[in-house]
Amino acid sequence: MKVINKVEELTVELNIFRSKGLSIGFVPTMGALHQGHLSLIETAGKENDLVVMSIFVNPTQFNNSEDLKKYPRDLNKDIELIKKSACSIVFAPDEKDIYPDENSKKSDFNFGLLTKIMEGKFRPSHFDGVAMVVKRLFEIVQPSKAYFGQKDIQQFLVINHLNNHYLADLKITLVKCPIIREPDGLAMSSRNLLLNDDSRKSAGLIAKTLIQAKENYKSFSVEELKKWVIDNINKDTKLKVEYFELVNDPDLEEIKIWDKNKKILACIAVFAGSIRLIDNIYFN
Ligand code: AMP
Repeated sequence: MKVINKVEELTVELNIFRSKGLSIGFVPTMGALHQGHLSLIETAGKENDLVVMSIFVNPTQFNNSEDLKKYPRDLNKDIELIKKSACSIVFAPDEKDIYPDENSKKSDFNFGLLTKIMEGKFRPSHFDGVAMVVKRLFEIVQPSKAYFGQKDIQQFLVINHLNNHYLADLKITLVKCPIIREPDGLAMSSRNLLLNDDSRKSAGLIAKTLIQAKENYKSFSVEELKKWVIDNINKDTKLKVEYFELVNDPDLEEIKIWDKNKKILACIAVFAGSIRLIDNIYFN
């Protein structure tokens, strides 16, 4: 496995592969890798000749400088974890390689409703930052397929829009991979490393509640179900729900009544102590 820091070096390397007609699978991450990231590499490895993973903590998607500062970073540990995986190239650029100047941090995307609710509402400008870095990385790597987790489902839908409307010429196929969970159901996340013991114990309730909601939703009205989920989580004093929304995949329109023709997605953000966690589940 090769670790490459410079765009020029990566381009030369990937051009050789492309000239041989080999397919490139791409897994963008911010590091602090866990089994969730490994599952993306594994799927990419089965579907491509070469897997490239990027590790870059993207400053433009953080709307809170404290959050950016405390985001876990340990490149050596990450490399150790994926050394034996199907990943052949780790691209770990510096900020200057991705954003050469201040102009490169400006964006003019329009994602409509996709970025106005949930993460978009509570983390203003977050998705502009995500779209900016994914656009730059897609243009550098030019993969055949790119792999993302359902864990960040709203991000996936935004990137899908970006890919179809702003980057169609690159002809990249996006692949959505399932959420990998801890034994108590907590969705694996780099942020789980920041939880203290008490918050970690409580955090299992988030996924348990989503599963119960999925199993029983037809017995409640939409409003009743929302209230039950929020109350059930908030009754644990270590947890505080920021939002719980029932939306339609792929356009994220609010679900007002149970409609079997719609793909119902339940999305949640919860503070466990001071750490913000997100999760989601499809009901049907
Ligand atoms: P991150 O490094 O957190 O930005 O995530 C990089 C990629 O890994 C994104 O596509 C995430 O959706 C995905 N990912 C993160 N956590 C999980 C998980 N628990 N299961 C599957 N994919 C995940």
